[in-house]
Formats: sequence, structure tokens, C-alpha cells
Amino acid sequence: MTTMLVIGAGQMGGGIAQTAAAHGFEVYLTDALAEGLRRGVEGISSRLGKQVEKGRMASDERMAILERIHAVSQIEEVPEVDLAVEAVVEDEEQKRDLFRRLDAHFGPQTILASNTSSISITRLARVTSRPHQVIGMHFMNPVPVMTLVEVIRGELTDDATVATVLRYARNMGKTPVEAHDYPGFVANRILMPMINEAIFALGEGVADRDAIDTVMKLGMNHPMGPLTLADFIGLDTCLAILQVLHEGFGDPKYRPAPLLKKMVDAGLYGRKSGRGFYQY
Ligand code: NAD
Repeated sequence: MTTMLVIGAGQMGGGIAQTAAAHGFEVYLTDALAEGLRRGVEGISSRLGKQVEKGRMASDERMAILERIHAVSQIEEVPEVDLAVEAVVEDEEQKRDLFRRLDAHFGPQTILASNTSSISITRLARVTSRPHQVIGMHFMNPVPVMTLVEVIRGELTDDATVATVLRYARNMGKTPVEAHDYPGFVANRILMPMINEAIFALGEGVADRDAIDTVMKLGMNHPMGPLTLADFIGLDTCLAILQVLHEGFGDPKYRPAPLLKKMVDAGLYGRKSGRGFYQY
């Protein structure tokens, strides 16, 4: 049985914990905020409850999954695990602090992974004593539904760690794809410029919100428009990723749209805060 710690019980961490537990992993889940942890566990319980209501899951299976998830208030309370995956805010300083703590607490066999959307795995690895065992494990939102995991090899990540993490991802029912450590990896290097351009177009009055989303849905066959998707990801996260791309490549084509900055300044983060381009 694989044991795993998930740090950050938000949209992503809650989804990662749920998916791992549903695939038989023993999971510890923690968050800096007691309220965040409570909300994360409640979210998992209610999503599984909906599966039962729809007849897609037996209620004893739901109970068994929930029993495999252990909410803990401190990393230091967690026994040895095979894998620790962090899904805290997209902020390099915070993630580095966390990697230092994980490295100090866990024995040398534990693989340390980040679900970062864009931050350098190599730089996160540098603050640990085990850079060969640090890796990116970039899940997609919503984790229980989306099958892709981008697996990012830092400069010093070794082959054994990559092979183990590819196996863990497959054991979670996912399809892993390998990428090297460049800002935004593959997914966000391609996705974020599109979302940013949609926000520039909105800010410049090229078309209104619904028109922009409709063009991309009906014209490009995207399942949701870029403004809807930005709300879904979280506008704070979109801005943080664009800043990493902008700084990492030093190329002005990645500069975040002023409207995006303004909305984040106003606390309009999208679905998770109740309002972004749309109202929830
Ligand atoms: P979120 O805001 O929903 O959740 C973040 C959680 O982390 C919150 O519960 C917060 O209390 C907690 N937290 C913050 N700092 C912490 C710390 N130092 N220690 C412990 N817990 C802490 O954010 P999210 O959308 O789940 O994103 C989390 C990470 O996943 C980010 O790195 C983001 O870039 C990445 N990611 C997001 C998406 C997406 O679509 N939202 C997709 C892939 C990856």
C-alpha cells in the first residue's frame, strides 16, 4: 500500500487526496488553516456523496475511501510516507519553506513532489538535502475527473524517482506525461497566454465576456471559454503563473493583462471566491 501526504486542502489538494484514496492509497491531508482543512475534507465527502446519489459508487465504498483519508493539523504529526505532494498557493517562498520542513521531517526514502503550475522544480529541490528525489507532479483541475498528470523532472531528479512517480500516477488512474523544468512546463506555457489574451481582448473592449467565451467554445470546440476557465482555475493562480512565465523567460509577451491584476487586487478570484468574470 502506498502512503501519501497532501499539503494544502484547497481545490487541488482535496482532489488529489480524494483520487489517491479512491485508488487505495493511505492519505494524510493537511492545511495551514484549520478552516481550509475542514472545507477540504467536507468537499471530498460531498463529492463522493454525489457519486453515491447518482448510483456510480456504493455507500460502503465511499466510507472506505473516507477512512483512508486522515486529516492532520501539522506535517510533523505524519508518520513516514512514500510520497508527499504539496498543493499550497502558487508562491515560491511558501513552497520553499514547505520543502525545507518536509525534508527535515521525512526520512530519506520519501519522494517530495510539487503540484506547482509553473514554479521551478530545480529551485524547490535546492532547499532540500535530496534534490534527486524532488519532482513535479502537476495534476489538472478537477483532479478526480481529469486524467493528465504532467511529471516534471528537475535538473537533478534521478531516473528512479521519475519511474516511481510515473507508477504512482498510473496507480491513481492517471496518464502521466513527462516534461522538463522550464517555466510553466507544457500545460501552462501554452494555456496561460491564451487566457491572458482573452483578458486583454475583454479589457480592450474587442468583445464582451460572453462573446469571447462563445467564440472559443463554438469556434474552436473548447469545452469551456477561456474566461470561464480562468475563473475555474482561480484568477490569483492565473496571475501567479503569468508572473512566473514573464520573469522566467524575460519575454514581454507573457506580461499579465492589467484587468487580471486589477481583479486579483479586488479579491475577485473566480469560482473559489464567488466572483470573477462570472458570479457564482
Ligand atoms: P487553493 O487556493 O484552492 O488552495 C490552496 C490551499 O493551500 C488553501 O486551502 C490554503 O489554506 C492552503 N495553504 C496555503 N499556504 C499553505 C502552507 N504554507 N501550508 C499548508 N497549506 C497552505 O489553490 P489551488 O487551486 O488548490 O492551487 C494549489 C496549487 O496547485 C498551486 O500551486 C496551483 O498553481 C496548483 N494548480 C492549480 C490548478 C488549478 O486549476 N487551480 C491546476 C493545477 C495546479
